[in-house]
Amino acid sequence: MSNDVRETIILGSGPSGLAAALYAGRANLKPLVITGNEFGGQINTTSEVENYPGFNGTTGPELVEVMKEQAERFGAEIKLDYVERVDLSQRPFKLSSHGTDYYAKSLIIAVGAAYRKLQVPGEEELTGRGVSYCATCDGFFFRDREIVIVGGGDSALEEAIFLTKFARKVTVIHRRDELRAGAILQARAKKNEKIEFIWDTIVTEINGDNAVTGLELKNVKTGETWTHKTDGVFIAIGHVPNSDLFKDQLEIDSQGFLVTDKRLRTNVEGVWAAGEITDSIFRQAITSAGMGAAAAIEAERWLGEQEA
Ligand code: NAP
Repeated sequence: MSNDVRETIILGSGPSGLAAALYAGRANLKPLVITGNEFGGQINTTSEVENYPGFNGTTGPELVEVMKEQAERFGAEIKLDYVERVDLSQRPFKLSSHGTDYYAKSLIIAVGAAYRKLQVPGEEELTGRGVSYCATCDGFFFRDREIVIVGGGDSALEEAIFLTKFARKVTVIHRRDELRAGAILQARAKKNEKIEFIWDTIVTEINGDNAVTGLELKNVKTGETWTHKTDGVFIAIGHVPNSDLFKDQLEIDSQGFLVTDKRLRTNVEGVWAAGEITDSIFRQAITSAGMGAAAAIEAERWLGEQEA
């Protein structure tokens, strides 16, 4: 149990949380960053980062490590812990993990989003046994195998291209006949000889007892169904915001994003949200980092006003 009252606590350790930590640290707020179960957020599982200005080719883990060191240099404390309950009705705010209570005058929520699930039979049972949501984490296990990627966005194509380093063949299964991914990734994927596409098709079931053996597929235009043999399936169909923790305490929109105003203020004074927990539009490391910095500037100003 820690009874210290922090000026500001930042929940989440992706680009938004770490940028908030840097700015709050430089404002001398001695911020505490509570990382969540995994340090670094989604970008920590990204193989190559080509679109973060100033980093002309780096990996996700390298990028967040540099951000962490920079924030620590200015007094941020980074703690590996997972907050399970928050009470925003009391002042200071109370945040509780399994073994610790934390108290803060202000709070920046940067808890991001989690992988969206297909929600089909077999998915849960076979996760870790051929079903994966992270090519960088699990791609290595599929050397010389035939695998599938589900999705048509940037993540799906980025993962497909990455997986061709290991797999013999990668089949991208997309529910429409047009990709959502940007032009550069589309061009790269389409010219990669190891990548094939199956269009207008959804996965209705994942087969296998101890390991994935195949997928039940359905063409959404013709209604045709068939079994597609595969050794593994990577699911890259987007993300859902991690907002359950704040249910009944903060305003949440119909898609699960925390609602903020232009200055990233939530409906509870002293609480800001930054990054993918509140951003359904841009969802880039650089935009998340920008939001984290902005939230910390706002928190600093607000704390100053409370003392005046
Ligand atoms: P996304 O852009 O939301 O794409 C999700 C894809 O999954 C879409 O193609 C969608 O199909 C499909 N999908 C969603 N639900 C599905 C379901 N239940 N069954 C089958 N397919 C489903 O997500 P993302 O690719 O993870 O990208 C997230 C954000 O990060 C985006 O803003 C993206 O630009 C960014 N990002 C950028 C890079 C990069 O620049 N290198 C890399 C990765 C991610 P529809 O197209 O039919 O909706």
